[in-house]
Amino acid sequence: MANTEEKELLKVENMYIHFKAENGGHIQAVKDLNLTIKEGETLAVVGESGCGKSVTSLSLMRLIPKNAGYTEGKILFEGKDLNKVSEREMRSIRGNTMSMIFQEPMTSLNPVHKIGKQIGEVIYLHSSLSQAEIKEKSIEMLKKVGIPRAEKIMDEYPHQLSGGMRQRVMIAMAMACTPKLLIADEPTTALDVTIQAQILELMNELKKDFHTAILLITHDLGVVAEMADRVMVMYYGQIVEQADVRTLLKKPKHPYTVGLLNSVPDMNDDSDKPLVPIVGNVPNLGVIQTGCPFYARCPQAFQKCHLENPPLFERGEQWVRCWLYENQEVIA
Ligand code: SF4
Repeated sequence: MANTEEKELLKVENMYIHFKAENGGHIQAVKDLNLTIKEGETLAVVGESGCGKSVTSLSLMRLIPKNAGYTEGKILFEGKDLNKVSEREMRSIRGNTMSMIFQEPMTSLNPVHKIGKQIGEVIYLHSSLSQAEIKEKSIEMLKKVGIPRAEKIMDEYPHQLSGGMRQRVMIAMAMACTPKLLIADEPTTALDVTIQAQILELMNELKKDFHTAILLITHDLGVVAEMADRVMVMYYGQIVEQADVRTLLKKPKHPYTVGLLNSVPDMNDDSDKPLVPIVGNVPNLGVIQTGCPFYARCPQAFQKCHLENPPLFERGEQWVRCWLYENQEVIA
């Protein structure tokens, strides 16, 4: 668990992400997002496909191509607004103090270069080590992420490794410069269950060893329970609920969070309680909604929900965007 006294590492204020639409207009993929991550903390962002969680992570790294869309708002990383720094400065932040791992390692690993060259390049770009020291550090990182025969793997190509090994290599590359923030986008989704557990354990160990904060993007509530200190639930490009992990899993408030939890098996519950899927689909981001975007799928919807999108209401440390909690203080 992260210490509540820890310093704020990342603070996102009023972030909007827009994409260009085919008709020449714009689609808002993320709306008025506010979040903070403290040093050494793991914040999980959960939601179905299309809820805006992955584009949020790409925006934080400034990886959305300019011709595809743009981001508004403040992204304060160690007090510096990443939306305002030069591309050159951003390149020195990426892979150094802030790095990212993806669901499919082959999207980051170059198939024509050996593993040693790829890890070495990251270290070379962000340090002044000699070639011999870079090689030594690369092997050390491969060992750190539990790769057996690290020296031999240095001379192999990505296609010679299993999916789990490739993911370990990607984590080694991401952690090579001991980043302060690791963004992990569905890091275990493509792996089988036993390898998944090993990778999660590895990330937790690295977090402890390096005091790295993790922004974990996932749709898997089992992974959330395993990894997160705090959880943010997104729906239709907005935060709909945020709380510490225990509160969110035990006492969810937003009907969407309740629906997500009811649709997956609870390993601690041996009753025959049936799983209840959430009916319908996430609305298309291109369609302008009035009212609460969850209205059409919500079992507790009432008339007001159809007319006005609720703001976030505060209930202690728990934030919830739902008219059922209207009598609480508004924070955003
Ligand atoms: S505001 Fe209304 S429709 Fe939206 S989640 Fe709450 S009860 Fe359901």
